[in-house]
Amino acid sequence: MQRGRLNMVQLVYHRMLFSTGILALKRKLRPRNTITVLAYHTLESPRFLRNVLGIHSSEADFNAQIDYIASHHAVLSMSELLSILSFRMSAPENAVVITFDDGYADVYNIAYPRMKALGLPGTVFLTTESVTCQRSIWTNRLYGFIEAAANRKVILEFDGRKPLALDLTDAHSRMSGALAVCGLLKTMSPEERQTALHAVARALGVDPQFDPIEQLPMLSWDQVSILHREGFTIGSHTVTHPILSMCSEERQWMELSESKQEIETRLNAPCRVLAYPNGQTGDTSDATRAIAKECGYEAGFRFTAGPVRSGTDPFDTPRHPVFEVPVASFAVALA
Ligand SMILES: [Zn+2]
Repeated sequence: MQRGRLNMVQLVYHRMLFSTGILALKRKLRPRNTITVLAYHTLESPRFLRNVLGIHSSEADFNAQIDYIASHHAVLSMSELLSILSFRMSAPENAVVITFDDGYADVYNIAYPRMKALGLPGTVFLTTESVTCQRSIWTNRLYGFIEAAANRKVILEFDGRKPLALDLTDAHSRMSGALAVCGLLKTMSPEERQTALHAVARALGVDPQFDPIEQLPMLSWDQVSILHREGFTIGSHTVTHPILSMCSEERQWMELSESKQEIETRLNAPCRVLAYPNGQTGDTSDATRAIAKECGYEAGFRFTAGPVRSGTDPFDTPRHPVFEVPVASFAVALA
């Protein structure tokens, strides 16, 4: 569900479905016992991040989508979803679960007040180091480097890999450059990626410590505590947001167990669920899922779309990525 991927014909078609009774009929014909788990990221990102990867929604779109869900769907809490997955219970019609990844402060500032007013439960998956240290996730630091680059034409060279030529002279080339570098760094182990990130900063003429955190703040633990007290489920999104399948098993243990422990210590409550960073097919392995189970998680969530029903493997639970789309297209995707 991303505005950039929709053409004008699709937008008009969605508006037509939305403004007629056809959508209500489509909802009625939706397979029973199917749950849609929605995955949001941030709702008020700076422009340079908004253009990259499309993980961002907007406050206006989010509010319209949440209002729509409240009046047309049954919103389940994470604990209700876990019961359905674990005990193979049936789900109510048109069931939806609302989740947020990474732990951006706008979950507290924008999503929570709106959802509280409508009585809707939600789940936030935290990258714990980013919350504790108030530090951007490495992908956002990389995008910040590219936006702040003093050197606009560079060739990046990493050990054992093909050199990557970057032309960052306009917004479009910066976006494709950011995607190319990010894609390459995602194929590295966390240790190799850390070295590469510094090398990228130096090549671009940016201080490797530069962090665009003020433009996209993370939740504080005080805000997380309030969300938890108000009924939000707090899950783990690892400690440092690595691609888990690129990590050694030892590193995966650290990422999954330490983030869980930190959340449990801070909130004095069990951390039952995990969202895999990046969450695409291939970003986890059998070992990842086995480690997640051994750490005591009850479910692991992907970032790829698909229906969830009683019988879905809880450690391979799909979610619908939600980006900046008008409510009509959002409603059509949900129906
Ligand atoms: Zn993430």
